[in-house]
Amino acid sequence: MRILLIEDEKKIAAFIERGLKEENYTVDTVPDGEQGLFLAEVNPYDLIILDLMLPDKDGLVICKELRNKNINTPLLMLTAKGTTRDKVSGLNAGADDYLTKPFAFEELLARIRALLRRQQQDKLTTLKTADLELNQITHQVKRSGREMVLTAKEYALLEYLMLNAGQVVTRTMISEHVWNEDFDSFTNVIDVYINYLRNKIDRGFDVQLIHSVRGTGYMLKG
Ligand code: CA
Repeated sequence: MRILLIEDEKKIAAFIERGLKEENYTVDTVPDGEQGLFLAEVNPYDLIILDLMLPDKDGLVICKELRNKNINTPLLMLTAKGTTRDKVSGLNAGADDYLTKPFAFEELLARIRALLRRQQQDKLTTLKTADLELNQITHQVKRSGREMVLTAKEYALLEYLMLNAGQVVTRTMISEHVWNEDFDSFTNVIDVYINYLRNKIDRGFDVQLIHSVRGTGYMLKG
């Protein structure tokens, strides 16, 4: 597990880094947001620990920039402030959890483990194609982090397309897996639902994910 630590206070950074290394985590530590953003873009971290009060850009700005760049690594925010308003702004900016200084290392470790566990569970239940994500448990669908509201049938159709991403799915395959009915007369229904999905998933985006395969069916690919 590789962790990015963005913290300008040397003593605290050293304390966290030493503790995490003893727990066998790989840790990269940087003292400001610009370096943190750069590293988060080039390395696949499992978790980011971000201090709220930093020189230049503060933690809230950095957190928003990370999420805007579609870097959805679990993020724990550290701060000396502990008011409800500060916690809410941190969470609104895209942080997954919040820890107020001073803290015991054991508490930091417990929260890190909880975030990593949650991340592992998400990996097993979230289908991804390009910037489109579908959670098979909560049925939440997002594109570029923006939540899409789908009807039950649209969801079922999209889930089927995503499970077969990169492969052509015929109308017959769709009918058998999504409609469970005898089919010929329904062919047009599938096209109608594909259009509904396109309006929600692809409209307004430069990259179209739902492709028509002439005479055969459809393919979802990024
Ligand atoms: Ca600080």
